[in-house]
Amino acid sequence: MKRRHLLSAAAASALAGVPLGARAQAYPTKPITVIVPFAAGGPTDALARILCQRMSEVLGQQLVVENVGGAGGTIGVAKAARATPDGYTLLFAHMGTLAVNIALYKQLPYDSQKDLEPVGLGGTNPMVLVVRKDLPARNLGEFVAYVKENQKKAQYGMAGIGAASHLGGLMLNSMMKVDVLEVPYKGTGPALNDLVSGQFDYMVDQAVNVLPQIQAGNIRALGVSTLKRLPQLPDVPTIDEAGLKGYEVTIWNGFFAPRGTSKEIVARLNQALVTALGDEKIRTRLTELAVEVPLPQEATPDALRSQLKASIDKWVPTVRAAGVKPQ
Ligand code: ASP
Repeated sequence: MKRRHLLSAAAASALAGVPLGARAQAYPTKPITVIVPFAAGGPTDALARILCQRMSEVLGQQLVVENVGGAGGTIGVAKAARATPDGYTLLFAHMGTLAVNIALYKQLPYDSQKDLEPVGLGGTNPMVLVVRKDLPARNLGEFVAYVKENQKKAQYGMAGIGAASHLGGLMLNSMMKVDVLEVPYKGTGPALNDLVSGQFDYMVDQAVNVLPQIQAGNIRALGVSTLKRLPQLPDVPTIDEAGLKGYEVTIWNGFFAPRGTSKEIVARLNQALVTALGDEKIRTRLTELAVEVPLPQEATPDALRSQLKASIDKWVPTVRAAGVKPQ
Protein backbone atom coordinates (compact mmCIF):
# COMPACT_ATOMS: atom_id res chain seq x y z
CA MET A 1 0.00 0.00 0.00
CA LYS A 2 1.29 3.43 -0.87
CA ARG A 3 2.02 5.82 1.98
CA ARG A 4 -0.86 8.13 1.04
CA HIS A 5 -3.33 5.25 1.30
CA LEU A 6 -1.85 4.15 4.57
CA LEU A 7 -2.38 7.63 5.95
CA SER A 8 -5.97 7.95 4.81
CA ALA A 9 -6.75 4.46 6.11
CA ALA A 10 -5.26 5.45 9.45
CA ALA A 11 -7.26 8.66 9.48
CA ALA A 12 -10.46 6.80 8.60
CA SER A 13 -10.00 4.22 11.33
CA ALA A 14 -9.19 6.97 13.83
CA LEU A 15 -12.40 8.81 12.87
CA ALA A 16 -14.41 5.59 13.00
CA GLY A 17 -13.50 5.29 16.66
CA VAL A 18 -14.86 8.75 17.43
CA PRO A 19 -18.57 8.97 18.18
CA LEU A 20 -20.55 11.24 15.84
CA GLY A 21 -21.38 13.68 18.62
CA ALA A 22 -17.71 14.20 19.43
CA ARG A 23 -16.90 14.78 15.75
CA ALA A 24 -19.51 17.50 15.58
CA GLN A 25 -18.00 19.00 18.75
CA ALA A 26 -14.90 19.74 16.72
CA TYR A 27 -17.05 21.86 14.39
CA PRO A 28 -16.48 24.68 13.62
CA THR A 29 -12.76 24.80 12.98
CA LYS A 30 -12.81 27.86 10.68
CA PRO A 31 -14.98 30.94 10.02
CA ILE A 32 -18.55 30.40 8.79
CA THR A 33 -20.01 32.47 5.95
CA VAL A 34 -23.59 33.65 6.48
CA ILE A 35 -25.22 34.76 3.24
CA VAL A 36 -27.64 37.65 3.64
CA PRO A 37 -29.54 37.93 0.35
CA PHE A 38 -29.88 41.73 0.56
CA ALA A 39 -27.57 44.74 0.65
CA ALA A 40 -25.70 45.74 3.79
CA GLY A 41 -27.38 48.23 6.12
CA GLY A 42 -30.94 46.88 5.74
CA PRO A 43 -33.11 44.91 8.17
CA THR A 44 -32.04 41.38 7.19
CA ASP A 45 -28.42 42.46 7.43
CA ALA A 46 -28.93 44.23 10.77
CA LEU A 47 -30.66 41.24 12.40
CA ALA A 48 -28.08 38.80 11.01
CA ARG A 49 -25.22 40.86 12.39
CA ILE A 50 -26.75 41.23 15.86
CA LEU A 51 -27.27 37.44 16.13
CA CYS A 52 -24.05 36.39 14.37
CA GLN A 53 -21.89 38.42 16.73
CA ARG A 54 -23.12 36.48 19.77
CA MET A 55 -23.22 33.15 17.92
CA SER A 56 -19.55 33.68 16.95
CA GLU A 57 -18.66 33.96 20.64
CA VAL A 58 -20.62 30.79 21.47
CA LEU A 59 -19.09 28.80 18.60
CA GLY A 60 -15.56 30.14 19.01
CA GLN A 61 -15.38 30.98 15.29
CA GLN A 62 -16.41 34.08 13.37
CA LEU A 63 -19.74 34.06 11.53
CA VAL A 64 -18.97 36.38 8.64
CA VAL A 65 -21.91 38.04 6.85
CA GLU A 66 -21.71 38.08 3.06
CA ASN A 67 -24.27 40.35 1.38
CA VAL A 68 -25.47 38.84 -1.89
CA GLY A 69 -28.28 41.16 -2.99
CA GLY A 70 -30.30 41.28 -6.19
CA ALA A 71 -33.47 39.82 -7.74
CA GLY A 72 -35.48 40.16 -4.53
CA GLY A 73 -33.03 37.98 -2.58
CA THR A 74 -33.23 35.02 -4.95
CA ILE A 75 -29.57 35.27 -6.03
CA GLY A 76 -28.31 34.97 -2.45
CA VAL A 77 -30.70 32.16 -1.51
CA ALA A 78 -29.71 30.21 -4.64
CA LYS A 79 -26.04 30.64 -3.78
CA ALA A 80 -26.60 29.30 -0.25
CA ALA A 81 -28.74 26.40 -1.49
CA ARG A 82 -25.95 25.32 -3.87
CA ALA A 83 -23.11 25.65 -1.33
CA THR A 84 -21.27 22.63 0.05
CA PRO A 85 -23.33 21.33 3.00
CA ASP A 86 -20.42 21.28 5.45
CA GLY A 87 -21.68 23.87 7.94
CA TYR A 88 -19.40 26.61 6.63
CA THR A 89 -22.00 28.37 4.47
CA LEU A 90 -25.34 29.37 5.97
CA LEU A 91 -28.23 31.57 4.94
CA PHE A 92 -30.12 34.17 6.93
CA ALA A 93 -33.28 34.99 5.02
CA HIS A 94 -36.91 35.89 5.49
CA MET A 95 -40.30 34.56 4.47
CA GLY A 96 -40.39 36.78 1.37
CA THR A 97 -37.47 35.03 -0.30
CA LEU A 98 -38.52 31.58 0.92
CA ALA A 99 -42.32 31.55 0.74
CA VAL A 100 -43.97 34.61 -0.82
CA ASN A 101 -41.86 34.63 -3.96
CA ILE A 102 -43.11 31.16 -4.96
CA ALA A 103 -46.17 33.06 -6.19
CA LEU A 104 -44.13 35.73 -7.94
CA TYR A 105 -41.60 33.86 -10.08
CA LYS A 106 -42.41 31.42 -12.85
CA GLN A 107 -39.20 29.60 -12.10
CA LEU A 108 -37.27 29.98 -8.86
CA PRO A 109 -33.69 28.68 -8.85
CA TYR A 110 -34.36 26.71 -5.61
CA ASP A 111 -37.07 24.92 -3.67
CA SER A 112 -36.97 26.43 -0.19
CA GLN A 113 -38.51 23.33 1.42
CA LYS A 114 -36.28 20.79 -0.34
CA ASP A 115 -32.96 22.55 -0.86
CA LEU A 116 -32.46 24.04 2.61
CA GLU A 117 -32.19 22.63 6.14
CA PRO A 118 -33.88 24.89 8.69
CA VAL A 119 -31.56 25.82 11.60
CA GLY A 120 -33.77 28.14 13.62
CA LEU A 121 -35.96 31.24 13.71
CA GLY A 122 -34.07 34.49 14.33
CA GLY A 123 -37.01 36.80 15.01
CA THR A 124 -40.28 38.21 13.78
CA ASN A 125 -40.60 41.87 12.86
CA PRO A 126 -43.59 44.08 12.03
CA MET A 127 -43.51 46.47 9.11
CA VAL A 128 -44.25 50.18 8.96
CA LEU A 129 -45.66 52.31 6.14
CA VAL A 130 -43.22 55.20 5.89
CA VAL A 131 -43.35 58.23 3.61
CA ARG A 132 -40.91 60.91 2.60
CA LYS A 133 -40.87 63.77 5.08
CA ASP A 134 -42.49 66.31 2.76
CA LEU A 135 -45.29 64.13 1.39
CA PRO A 136 -48.44 66.24 1.88
CA ALA A 137 -50.54 63.38 3.39
CA ARG A 138 -50.58 63.48 7.21
CA ASN A 139 -52.52 60.27 7.88
CA LEU A 140 -53.51 57.05 6.12
CA GLY A 141 -56.79 58.46 4.75
CA GLU A 142 -54.97 61.43 3.18
CA PHE A 143 -52.25 59.07 1.95
CA VAL A 144 -54.75 56.83 0.12
CA ALA A 145 -56.33 59.91 -1.50
CA TYR A 146 -52.90 61.28 -2.44
CA VAL A 147 -51.71 58.04 -4.07
CA LYS A 148 -55.00 57.65 -5.96
CA GLU A 149 -54.76 61.19 -7.30
CA ASN A 150 -51.09 60.85 -8.20
CA GLN A 151 -51.00 57.34 -9.60
CA LYS A 152 -49.03 58.38 -12.68
CA LYS A 153 -46.17 59.85 -10.70
CA ALA A 154 -46.31 58.18 -7.26
CA GLN A 155 -43.47 55.73 -6.61
CA TYR A 156 -42.80 53.22 -3.88
CA GLY A 157 -39.47 51.67 -2.93
CA MET A 158 -38.88 47.95 -2.46
CA ALA A 159 -36.07 45.41 -2.42
CA GLY A 160 -37.05 43.50 -5.57
CA ILE A 161 -39.74 40.99 -6.52
CA GLY A 162 -40.63 38.81 -3.54
CA ALA A 163 -38.89 40.97 -0.93
CA ALA A 164 -40.73 41.76 2.28
CA SER A 165 -41.04 45.39 1.20
CA HIS A 166 -42.55 44.17 -2.06
CA LEU A 167 -45.12 42.07 -0.20
CA GLY A 168 -45.92 44.97 2.15
CA GLY A 169 -46.25 47.39 -0.78
CA LEU A 170 -48.22 45.15 -3.08
CA MET A 171 -50.77 44.21 -0.40
CA LEU A 172 -51.18 47.92 0.37
CA ASN A 173 -51.46 48.91 -3.29
CA SER A 174 -53.91 46.11 -3.97
CA MET A 175 -56.13 47.24 -1.06
CA MET A 176 -55.89 50.87 -2.23
CA LYS A 177 -56.65 49.63 -5.77
CA VAL A 178 -53.78 51.60 -7.25
CA ASP A 179 -51.10 50.77 -9.75
CA VAL A 180 -47.95 52.57 -8.72
CA LEU A 181 -44.45 52.55 -10.13
CA GLU A 182 -42.06 50.43 -8.07
CA VAL A 183 -38.46 51.43 -7.52
CA PRO A 184 -36.36 48.29 -6.91
CA TYR A 185 -33.20 48.20 -4.78
CA LYS A 186 -30.83 45.43 -3.68
CA GLY A 187 -32.08 45.92 -0.14
CA THR A 188 -34.10 48.39 1.88
CA GLY A 189 -30.94 49.79 3.49
CA PRO A 190 -30.07 51.72 0.30
CA ALA A 191 -33.79 52.30 -0.39
CA LEU A 192 -34.21 53.97 2.99
CA ASN A 193 -31.38 56.41 2.23
CA ASP A 194 -33.25 57.45 -0.91
CA LEU A 195 -36.56 57.81 0.95
CA VAL A 196 -34.82 60.07 3.48
CA SER A 197 -33.58 62.23 0.61
CA GLY A 198 -37.08 62.25 -0.90
CA GLN A 199 -36.36 60.32 -4.10
CA PHE A 200 -39.56 58.29 -3.95
CA ASP A 201 -42.80 58.60 -1.99
CA TYR A 202 -43.31 55.60 0.28
CA MET A 203 -42.19 52.17 1.38
CA VAL A 204 -43.43 49.43 3.67
CA ASP A 205 -40.43 48.02 5.50
CA GLN A 206 -39.44 46.19 8.66
CA ALA A 207 -39.45 48.25 11.85
CA VAL A 208 -35.81 47.22 12.47
CA ASN A 209 -34.77 49.38 9.54
CA VAL A 210 -37.11 52.33 9.71
CA LEU A 211 -37.58 53.02 13.45
CA PRO A 212 -34.33 55.01 13.92
CA GLN A 213 -35.15 57.27 10.93
CA ILE A 214 -38.75 57.77 12.10
CA GLN A 215 -37.51 58.63 15.58
CA ALA A 216 -34.97 61.07 14.08
CA GLY A 217 -37.79 62.79 12.11
CA ASN A 218 -36.24 62.01 8.71
CA ILE A 219 -39.29 60.12 7.44
CA ARG A 220 -42.88 59.81 8.71
CA ALA A 221 -44.79 56.70 9.76
CA LEU A 222 -48.46 56.52 8.71
CA GLY A 223 -49.37 53.01 9.82
CA VAL A 224 -48.04 49.75 11.24
CA SER A 225 -48.61 46.40 9.59
CA THR A 226 -49.67 44.46 12.70
CA LEU A 227 -53.12 44.37 14.30
CA LYS A 228 -51.66 45.90 17.47
CA ARG A 229 -49.86 49.23 17.70
CA LEU A 230 -46.13 49.14 18.44
CA PRO A 231 -44.95 50.36 21.86
CA GLN A 232 -42.13 52.19 20.01
CA LEU A 233 -44.68 54.18 17.94
CA PRO A 234 -47.70 54.56 20.25
CA ASP A 235 -49.24 57.39 18.17
CA VAL A 236 -49.06 55.55 14.88
CA PRO A 237 -52.27 53.61 14.15
CA THR A 238 -52.33 50.16 12.64
CA ILE A 239 -53.04 50.22 8.89
CA ASP A 240 -56.07 48.05 9.68
CA GLU A 241 -57.55 50.47 12.24
CA ALA A 242 -56.77 53.49 10.05
CA GLY A 243 -59.03 52.21 7.29
CA LEU A 244 -57.52 49.37 5.27
CA LYS A 245 -59.34 46.58 7.13
CA GLY A 246 -57.59 43.24 7.15
CA TYR A 247 -54.12 44.54 6.31
CA GLU A 248 -51.65 42.46 8.30
CA VAL A 249 -48.07 41.50 7.42
CA THR A 250 -45.31 40.37 9.80
CA ILE A 251 -41.93 39.17 8.60
CA TRP A 252 -39.94 36.31 10.12
CA ASN A 253 -36.25 35.70 9.54
CA GLY A 254 -34.34 32.50 10.08
CA PHE A 255 -31.06 30.66 9.65
CA PHE A 256 -30.86 27.85 7.10
CA ALA A 257 -28.10 25.53 5.86
CA PRO A 258 -27.80 23.83 2.47
CA ARG A 259 -29.63 20.51 2.22
CA GLY A 260 -27.42 17.64 3.33
CA THR A 261 -25.82 19.50 6.25
CA SER A 262 -25.49 16.94 9.05
CA LYS A 263 -27.97 16.88 11.93
CA GLU A 264 -25.07 17.31 14.39
CA ILE A 265 -23.94 20.53 12.72
CA VAL A 266 -27.50 21.87 12.52
CA ALA A 267 -27.94 21.06 16.23
CA ARG A 268 -24.69 22.85 17.14
CA LEU A 269 -25.71 25.94 15.16
CA ASN A 270 -29.17 25.87 16.67
CA GLN A 271 -27.72 25.69 20.17
CA ALA A 272 -25.57 28.76 19.40
CA LEU A 273 -28.65 30.59 18.08
CA VAL A 274 -30.77 29.70 21.11
CA THR A 275 -27.95 30.88 23.40
CA ALA A 276 -27.79 34.19 21.48
CA LEU A 277 -31.57 34.62 21.69
CA GLY A 278 -31.44 34.04 25.45
CA ASP A 279 -28.77 36.69 25.97
CA GLU A 280 -30.21 39.63 27.91
CA LYS A 281 -28.31 42.29 25.93
CA ILE A 282 -29.45 40.84 22.61
CA ARG A 283 -33.04 40.53 23.79
CA THR A 284 -33.06 44.17 24.88
CA ARG A 285 -31.56 45.36 21.59
CA LEU A 286 -34.00 43.31 19.50
CA THR A 287 -36.98 44.39 21.59
CA GLU A 288 -36.02 48.06 21.10
CA LEU A 289 -36.18 47.37 17.36
CA ALA A 290 -39.67 45.81 17.74
CA VAL A 291 -38.39 42.31 17.02
CA GLU A 292 -40.35 39.53 18.69
CA VAL A 293 -37.66 37.24 20.10
CA PRO A 294 -38.57 33.54 19.69
CA LEU A 295 -38.81 31.31 22.73
CA PRO A 296 -36.46 28.28 22.67
CA GLN A 297 -39.31 25.97 21.57
CA GLU A 298 -40.11 28.40 18.70
CA ALA A 299 -36.47 28.43 17.58
CA THR A 300 -36.01 24.70 16.86
CA PRO A 301 -35.25 23.49 13.30
CA ASP A 302 -38.62 21.71 13.21
CA ALA A 303 -40.50 24.82 14.32
CA LEU A 304 -38.84 26.76 11.48
CA ARG A 305 -39.73 24.01 9.00
CA SER A 306 -43.40 24.30 10.09
CA GLN A 307 -43.25 28.09 9.98
CA LEU A 308 -41.94 27.99 6.41
CA LYS A 309 -44.71 25.63 5.34
CA ALA A 310 -47.37 27.74 7.09
CA SER A 311 -46.10 30.88 5.31
CA ILE A 312 -46.18 29.16 1.92
CA ASP A 313 -49.72 27.92 2.63
CA LYS A 314 -50.84 31.40 3.68
CA TRP A 315 -49.03 33.76 1.31
CA VAL A 316 -48.86 31.96 -2.02
CA PRO A 317 -52.67 31.92 -2.47
CA THR A 318 -53.02 35.42 -0.95
CA VAL A 319 -50.53 36.96 -3.37
CA ARG A 320 -52.07 35.06 -6.29
CA ALA A 321 -55.50 36.31 -5.27
CA ALA A 322 -54.15 39.89 -5.26
CA GLY A 323 -53.74 39.38 -9.00
CA VAL A 324 -49.97 39.74 -9.22
CA LYS A 325 -48.60 38.02 -12.31
CA PRO A 326 -45.54 35.82 -11.80
CA GLN A 327 -42.51 36.71 -13.91
N1 ASP B 1 -36.00 43.22 4.29
C1 ASP B 1 -35.94 43.90 3.08
C2 ASP B 1 -37.05 43.44 2.20
O1 ASP B 1 -37.24 42.26 2.02
C3 ASP B 1 -34.65 43.75 2.38
C4 ASP B 1 -33.47 44.00 3.23
O2 ASP B 1 -33.33 43.34 4.26
O3 ASP B 1 -32.70 44.87 2.84
O4 ASP B 1 -37.71 44.25 1.65
